[in-house]
Parts: sequence; structure tokens; C-alpha cells
Amino acid sequence: MKPYEKYPIHLFNSISGEKEKFESQVPGFVGMYVCGPTVYNYVHLGNTRTFLTFDILARYFRFLGYKVRYVRNITDVGHLEGDVDDGEDKIGKKARLEQLEPMEIVKRYTEDFHTVMRQFNILPPSIEPSATGHIVEQIGITKKLIDLGLAYEVNGSVYFDVKKYNQSHHYGILSGRNIEDLMESGRDLDSQDEKREKIDFALWKKASPQHLMRWPSPWGDGFPGWHIECTVMSTKYLGETFDLHGGGMDLKFPHHECEIAQATAANGKSPVRYWVHSNMLTVNGQKMSKSLGNSFLPSELFSGNHPLLQKGFGPMTVRFFMLQSHYSSTLDFSNEALLAAEKGFKKLSNALTIIKNMSAPTAASGQPEKEKKLQDLITDCYLHMSDDFNTAKTLAVLFEMATQINTWNAQKELLGEISADAFEAFKHAYCAFMEDVLGLKEEKSVNNDLLEGTIQVLIGLRKAVRADRNFALSDKIRDDLKAIGIQLKDGKDGVMGYEIEN
Ligand SMILES: [Zn+2]
Repeated sequence: MKPYEKYPIHLFNSISGEKEKFESQVPGFVGMYVCGPTVYNYVHLGNTRTFLTFDILARYFRFLGYKVRYVRNITDVGHLEGDVDDGEDKIGKKARLEQLEPMEIVKRYTEDFHTVMRQFNILPPSIEPSATGHIVEQIGITKKLIDLGLAYEVNGSVYFDVKKYNQSHHYGILSGRNIEDLMESGRDLDSQDEKREKIDFALWKKASPQHLMRWPSPWGDGFPGWHIECTVMSTKYLGETFDLHGGGMDLKFPHHECEIAQATAANGKSPVRYWVHSNMLTVNGQKMSKSLGNSFLPSELFSGNHPLLQKGFGPMTVRFFMLQSHYSSTLDFSNEALLAAEKGFKKLSNALTIIKNMSAPTAASGQPEKEKKLQDLITDCYLHMSDDFNTAKTLAVLFEMATQINTWNAQKELLGEISADAFEAFKHAYCAFMEDVLGLKEEKSVNNDLLEGTIQVLIGLRKAVRADRNFALSDKIRDDLKAIGIQLKDGKDGVMGYEIEN
């Protein structure tokens, strides 16, 4: 029996509005697509939460024995300002402002994105296709939609005919929006005289003479609309119907609604079996936004160089902090919450180090009730993760496990109550759920490399003066560091560690 059969996943499907048992289309294989970043600016923390959510999904599917093909795209053309059809292309605008080639912008911010993903231990997808690499396919599906009578060309641009689509399908099936309301409330925009209805959306846009990113098409020089790229790339790598599509809550409408309409119209079938949306990050109760001055770049978080932060926090502390709430809840970010998360993560991380170095008991059998308690904790980790990827509840179990590890560490004789096998199973589960499933690893440095280096110099100095039996100076180094919040810890074997006090 595969682990995914033993601990079947139930997840909240945004399109049905219900928690459903996850059954993959092909047994043992999961195909998932996640809308990636638009690479025109530095990735901020809100984006990071979305990608962390789907990192957890991919990791847990794999952990349960599924083979996963995870496709996450790079949007490098077609995403317009304000998500409307007559906004300026976000990448083109940045290129114009910085007097760079659009592809220079794309390269710079794609690299930044990858760096941040690595810092947070968010694993790369199996395929990372880009919109500009799939222009031919986007033109192909646009032609097909025109042939099917569900898209029309006006002045070199092509629009999807939402009203016509809605005659035989349901536009609004995902977001719950009502098409009549949408047609009424659409904003009046200059380009709208081109469209038959306000809710129609661009599949292809004619490029003005000054537009930098342009490709030849049957309708003249232009560029693809934003929604069509995801339909093309998900279909190409995962098939016309695939298991799971994810993204931030803000993409539900119009982006994902439009994806469903295009794909259903073109292929005659619904593209996605399970839709998963992750919720927003707020700061001190407010939406994170540049204009409110409360948006965070990961680098500001690590250095502490931000008016809302008292100090810097390591990426693993932030990862842990985000995993403390379920992906579908809003998560409020504050200096205090991070300070608490730092303490919590340290407890789990210390227990990880302890159990890795702990010598296992040798007995072939142990006390059944003790071993059952350990086994129940392991089972709970699976059950919580299989219940819509509940990282918050899984962490709560890991805290109980950490307490057990600390008890063994303090009273080694208690290890005699359990068998070698029970210990190994427990150790394996703790390490695997921490590292493989939740992606939490030891925080290398709490602040930055410079601080870490400085503390190490002082630790070395203190060791040297102790070796010279100059205990007065040794104590002064310890006390002075303590006065500024760095507590040195003398280990049994003379190894010194430190802790930064909150
Ligand atoms: Zn998308």
C-alpha cells in the first residue's frame, strides 16, 4: 500500500467550494500548475507565501509517493498594468523607465526570484516555462478560438467573446461572479469601443509603434494577452485536463476564470480538476502594499532594515512563521509575531539537532503503551498534512515530539523504555516532516554573515583567553555580549554556541 493510499489527501477545491478527496487522474502521478511571478520587480513577501504554499503541496505529494510534475511559469510578457486590457505592459514599462531591453528586466528579476526561492528553501518546479517561449502556441489557440466563433478580431487585436461562451458554458463558475452584474459594472475604458462587451478579454493585442515587445501574427505585429499564456503552458506540459491548478487568491478573478473559459472553449473540456488558492499576507492587520509603506522585500526582512522591524530574521524563521497558519487563512505579519516565531522555530530546530546526534536504544522490544504514544504522534503528522495540508496542526504535533526529544535528552534512561525500531521510526518521522515535508532546516545565521563572522571571532578570542586561564577577561567578553543581547552558551565539550535574545 502506497503512503498516499494509507493517508489519502482531502483538499478544499475552490471550484466546488468543498473539501474533497484528492484522486489523481493517473494513479500515482500528480500534474500541477501554478501561476508564477511577473518578473518586472523584486519579489515581495506576499508572493513568497503563495510559492511556499505550493512548495508544501508538491513536497507532500512526493512524500506520499506520488510522482509529481510541477509546472510554474514565468510571466515575461502580456501582464498589463491594472490587469486591464489597455494598461501598459508591466515589463515594457519598466524597460522604458530604466532604458533597458525588456529581456534585461526579465533576466534581472527572474534571477532575483530564484535567489529568494532558494533562500526560503522553496524547491524549483519540474518545468519553468516562459510566456515569450510560447508565442507560437498562443497564436495557435487564438486562431482556434476565432475559428470556433468564440473570439473575434478588431483592428489587429483579438478578444474572447465572453457573452457567447456563456450561452453554452458558465462564465463565473470559479469566482461565483454573475455575468450580468459584470457587464453592468465594468469600467468604461478608452479601448472598450473595440470590444463587443466590457467583460470580453484580450487574447492578442496589437502593438503600437512604440511598443517594445512584439511578434508577427496573422493579425499584424502584437503580443499575447495575459490569461492565454497559462492555458497554453499548462495544456502543453500537463494535458487538456490536469489534476491541480494553484495561485494566489487575487488571481481567481479574472485570471483563472478566463483560463477556464479559454481552455474549455478550445478543448471542449474543463481544464482543471482541483483549484487551490492561497490567502493573503497582511501587515499589522492591513493589506500589504507598496503605497501603504508596509510591503517587505525579503532582503529587508533578513537585514532588519525596515521601519516596522526591530531586527533581522532568518528565512527559516519566516518560513516557519508562515507555516504556522493554514494556507487558506490570512496571515498577519508583525515584528512581535516574528519574534515569537523565532523562539518557536529554535525549539524545533534544536530538537532536530539533538535527535540526529542521539544514540539509539538497543533493546529489541519496549513498553507497548510508550511506543503507541510515539506511533500516534507520527500518525497525527500524516493525518494533519493529508487534511488539506494543515501545516499549523502538523507543527503543533512536532512541538509535542520536540518535547519528547528534550525529555530523552535530559533523562537518557527513559530511552530504555522503547525499542530501537520505535526510536528509529520516531526519529525518521521527526526529521522527515521537518526537513522534507515542511522544508525547515537549521538557520545558518540569524542576522547576516557579517554578524555571524564577528561573533565567531569573539568566541575564538574567548576560547584563547580561557586557555590562558584569564577568566576575568573571558567573563568580560561573555558579559559584554550579554549586555547587547547575545548570550554565549558553553557546551559540555568546550564548544561554544550563542543565542540572540529577543
Ligand atoms: Zn496564470
